[in-house]
Amino acid sequence: MYDVKGNLRKVLGDLPDGVRLVAISKYHPNEYIMAAYEEGQRVFGESHEQELRQKVESLPKDIEWHFIGHLQTNKVKYIAPYIQMVEAVDSLKLLREINKQAAKHERTIKVLLELHIAEEETKYGLTLDACRQLLEDGEWRELKNVQICGLMMMASYVDDVEQIRSEMMLASDFFDEVKERYFKDDPCFCERSWGMSHDYPIAVECHSTMVRVGTSIFGPRIY
Ligand SMILES: *Cc1c(COP(=O)(O)O)cnc(C)c1O
Repeated sequence: MYDVKGNLRKVLGDLPDGVRLVAISKYHPNEYIMAAYEEGQRVFGESHEQELRQKVESLPKDIEWHFIGHLQTNKVKYIAPYIQMVEAVDSLKLLREINKQAAKHERTIKVLLELHIAEEETKYGLTLDACRQLLEDGEWRELKNVQICGLMMMASYVDDVEQIRSEMMLASDFFDEVKERYFKDDPCFCERSWGMSHDYPIAVECHSTMVRVGTSIFGPRIY
């Protein structure tokens, strides 16, 4: 088996105080997750509802699960009973559905708003203007069973460190903007989720509070 424990210790050793690790375990078997768990890791991220459900049923109950992938509104009901955080909310429609399903279970689900900053063509994430508009619109304030805890983004998948840095700094500056404007008195709005295996050292320099690292801990995914 891959040296999950050693890899995990190395990644944790790279993270300064105040930066949490979400260990991204998608496509990796339970024994890998348990190896990380035995090292003390409790926060894991998955991106497929069915895979997540199977893992939740068979793994320790004190694991904090984050949903990190694109979430279809019709899947929200399946994860609503147990998900701790939905990291990639990119529409008001999805936010409303998470709120509705969380209410059914008398829970509050934490969410992050996903920004689309990378130059790459992807369908997902809010442009900065769309995110401003969503917040300005104000309906989110009425959604009592979701708590917006911060922002999430993926930088372009490139070797150019300066490009990655400038995208992450743009996200960080945008965080400061919306924090000041909409969440000044809300200490829960504090998370900046950026940084993956290839760029988390840059992310910690760009004010990340939460890195999402898979490959560097668990090895390559076998699809
Ligand atoms: C898979 C995934 C990661 C982890 O990527 P690695 O390169 O394996 O560290 C992080 N964030 C999201 C949104 C992902 O889908």
